[in-house]
Amino acid sequence: MSWTKDGGLDPRIAETTRGIFIGGDWRETRGEHAIDVVDPSTGGTVAALTAAGGGEVDAAVAAARRAFDDGGWGRTGGAERARLILRLADIIETHADELALLEAIDGGKPLRMARMVDVGGSIERLRYAAGAATRMNGEAIRPVSAPNALAYTIHEPVGVAGLIVAWNFPLMMAVSKMSDALAAGCTVVVKPSENTSLSTLRLAELAREAGFPDGVINVVTGLGGVVGQALAEHPGVDKISFTGSTAVGKRLIAASAGNLKRLTLELGGKSPAFVFADADMDVAITGVFRNIYYNSGQVCAAGSRVYAHRSVYDRLVAGLVAKAEALRVGPALAEGTEMGPLVSQAHFDRVANYADGARAAGATVLTGGSRIDRPGFFMQPTILADTDAAMAVRREEIFGPVLCVTPFDDDDLEALAREANATEYGLSAYIYTTNLNTAHRMARLIRAGLVRINAGALDMAVPFGGYKQSGWGRENGTPGWQAYTELKSVVVPL
Ligand code: NAD
Repeated sequence: MSWTKDGGLDPRIAETTRGIFIGGDWRETRGEHAIDVVDPSTGGTVAALTAAGGGEVDAAVAAARRAFDDGGWGRTGGAERARLILRLADIIETHADELALLEAIDGGKPLRMARMVDVGGSIERLRYAAGAATRMNGEAIRPVSAPNALAYTIHEPVGVAGLIVAWNFPLMMAVSKMSDALAAGCTVVVKPSENTSLSTLRLAELAREAGFPDGVINVVTGLGGVVGQALAEHPGVDKISFTGSTAVGKRLIAASAGNLKRLTLELGGKSPAFVFADADMDVAITGVFRNIYYNSGQVCAAGSRVYAHRSVYDRLVAGLVAKAEALRVGPALAEGTEMGPLVSQAHFDRVANYADGARAAGATVLTGGSRIDRPGFFMQPTILADTDAAMAVRREEIFGPVLCVTPFDDDDLEALAREANATEYGLSAYIYTTNLNTAHRMARLIRAGLVRINAGALDMAVPFGGYKQSGWGRENGTPGWQAYTELKSVVVPL
């Protein structure tokens, strides 16, 4: 529990360890049930959090239910919901440095990146969602068999939404789900990852400051198999939005069947990148590199398999190796750190085992491949060649800084796509070419929810989600808020 030099809790962390947030108040339920908060940059324990149980989930759902059924959050005007969401964005902005620090300590994110991407992105995401609250329009329809009748659709909030979040972008994912849910008129129970709950707890307090009515936002910390499972099974929850692994996603389908909850699942990926002979190689090297090493490879859409035309393969590999060896890997709070540690000891061991296994199976390690010998959970940026499609590193999601590079010889796009599509996942793909025709033909052939051509970036206005076992539904853009609504059709003869 010691983080400051004198052995006390840093006051900024202490703010987040008050318990769980239910019905607008903090509940102290600690005792023997606690979760250690570990700083991945040191491996040391910095705080302890409540590990809630089913009773706390019941209380949180009851509070959210009351706020929805009796409190009328869903009937509050869109302009008022937007006002509160915008107010929360402003408050987060004034607490940006503090939230970035929590994200850096808790998840090992380089501080500058946490400030810019995680906190900056969360502020923008709230402002984007606030717009949706004021534009939840359906459509007017002219019925075809009774042309004089009037028909129209309206979007109504689905009810209480359980939001279960992974650890790789804790604040941003909680905010992303919450902002669309609140904009749509749902009340929420947020379950952050047990690895990274601090920023979400702080968010709850900031939401209280923003003036959201009691019970509209609730946060319950705890273990996935206890709190997450209880939320998914709870008859008082109408919708689950989940970001996490495919294995847990499948469990949620079963758990939520009792009352046929609506489900959004944002799951894992094994996304391919293609570098064609005519690619702008500076764009390709920068893009491939960023898309695997950003956030230490702990990104669902990480481009972890790259296929490069033989004529540019050596240049690509040389560029990637040079960048990997120059990358400054270090503690999240150290000045100049470009890549931080992996999130936990267990995850670190898992990622390192993939690299060890590939080496043992005959892969060539072009750079990296090892644990970095220092306290904390640091892995070298790793590039593997001579892997084959049957190896675990080519098939399974590693969720770490490990890239497989493979050359291809001819431009048979169908064959290339067939090989890239031969995985259970379908989240994202990256295409580097200056030929428009190649780019768009390849984009069509790839079975994935998001295709990025050259420097195309993720954007909150662009729907995001997976084909196949990468998930159900879409977040962001119009489908993002619509996922928190039911569509009602009204028909009247005139
Ligand atoms: P995880 O599936 O282990 O956990 C995710 C969340 O689910 C956590 O809050 C956890 O406590 C909870 N959980 C665990 N077991 C549960 C259960 N039985 N019932 C209900 N909830 C349960 O995933 P993780 O290790 O936190 O995150 C990494 C995974 O998330 C990777 O597979 C990654 O690809 C995926 N991810 C996907 C996206 C996306 O948008 N598609 C984004 C980020 C991460």
